[in-house]
Amino acid sequence: MDLTYPPEAQSFRLVARAWLEENLPDGWFEPGFRMDDAERAAWSDDWTKKLFAGGWICATWPKEYGGKGLTTMEAVVLNEEFAHAGAPMRADFFGDTLVGPTILQWGTEEQKMEFLPKILSGTIAWCQGFSEPDAGSDMANLSTKAVLDGDEWVLNGQKIWTTQGFVADYVFVLCRTDPDAPKHKGISYLLCPMDQPGVEVRPINQIDGAAEFAEVFFTDARCPKDNVVGGLNNGWSVAMTTLGFERGSSATTGHRRFETELDHIIELAKANGAIDDPLVRQGLARCYSKVQIMKVNGLRSLASVISGKKDPGVVALGATNKMFWSEYHQQVMMLAMDILGMEGQILLGDPTVEESVPGYGRRRTSARYPANALQSSFFFSRSETIWGGTSQIQRNIVGERVLGLPKEPKVTV
Ligand SMILES: Cc1cc2nc3c(=O)[nH]c(=O)nc-3n(C[C@H](O)[C@H](O)[C@H](O)COP(=O)(O)OP(=O)(O)OC[C@H]3O[C@@H](n4cnc5c(N)ncnc54)[C@H](O)[C@@H]3O)c2cc1C
Repeated sequence: MDLTYPPEAQSFRLVARAWLEENLPDGWFEPGFRMDDAERAAWSDDWTKKLFAGGWICATWPKEYGGKGLTTMEAVVLNEEFAHAGAPMRADFFGDTLVGPTILQWGTEEQKMEFLPKILSGTIAWCQGFSEPDAGSDMANLSTKAVLDGDEWVLNGQKIWTTQGFVADYVFVLCRTDPDAPKHKGISYLLCPMDQPGVEVRPINQIDGAAEFAEVFFTDARCPKDNVVGGLNNGWSVAMTTLGFERGSSATTGHRRFETELDHIIELAKANGAIDDPLVRQGLARCYSKVQIMKVNGLRSLASVISGKKDPGVVALGATNKMFWSEYHQQVMMLAMDILGMEGQILLGDPTVEESVPGYGRRRTSARYPANALQSSFFFSRSETIWGGTSQIQRNIVGERVLGLPKEPKVTV
């Protein structure tokens, strides 16, 4: 594999690097640079404004919708430069990563003009209304209904596990719009306002006291007729696009957060002597190898996109990547807890701080259950093989679509 980047990518690299050097706070690149909580909070708001003004948020989106129209290669270079500088890219997971790209691919011109600039500027927040009590992995089983009444859809039903439901202005919601059609065919993908009497959001309290997600009840909720994305009763195909974005990740930088986390775990093991245990060393070596595999797979998928060649392994890369990183993360977090040993049993966080993780709002941990960042990452890793499609479902996808195995028999209860 030729790992050199084309000259135009390298000249764009200099542009991105110069912008970062000019806009990051003084001293950012010096060892030991720190900001206290108040400074970081003030800087964080200012930084989002700078990113927006620079056009770096969703920079591959076309210029007419407020993007910068970057090529795939330029976007990769941009991500690499941000990762290299340790500079955060705003990651509004639901807007920037899921519904925005879906509207770009499937939306009408009016939907693009209405929603994309507001997603870019961060003026509307989103949540995802796919799962229901009887429709998780078997999403096509969903029963929330939408019936047309004049110029509006009227929604009735219930969603569950709706992350950030309590802060969202809109939900991209799957509804049954043709109850007589086969399960996958009668579904539509609606963009429904949340702030109305027909939408009730009930937080789901987690064991640690935080409430990251919610149940959402629709009782005669109203949604404009024209807010159907990708055409009436075509919601299944549109939802698959959204899930593809949810399972994919930045090609050559996706492994970086795991690399940084692993470095931290190795430092811990050195500091408390756990590194002397051969089993710990073996575990760390295994984890290091897996992060390298993620890195190589990222390059592989980038090469495939750029060359336009369809490598059969890359066709299902979203599914294999999702499975690989989420299972890796559970392993490394178990190892991290072993390394912490007895100390891992004590809550190591600061009770005055609510840990937040970009893209997931501010409720990752609760001040009443002050886990530190590593402990909270350990807890959250348990959910990573579930959300966005479970590991078992990813294996079904790989088996059926890549390896050509016979389709799973459909069981009717
Ligand atoms: C942290 C978190 C955040 C989430 N956020 C959202 C959100 O914002 N919006 C949203 O809509 N949903 C969200 N979800 C829900 C998530 O998408 C579902 O939990 C997931 O799709 C699994 O569905 P389920 O929980 O109903 O489990 P089930 O589908 O009931 O699965 C139970 C078990 O059976 C296995 N299984 C099921 N079917 C098969 C099969 N055919 N072959 C083999 N094994 C199978 C599964 O792998 C799993 O182990 C979130 C979930 C989590 C954990």
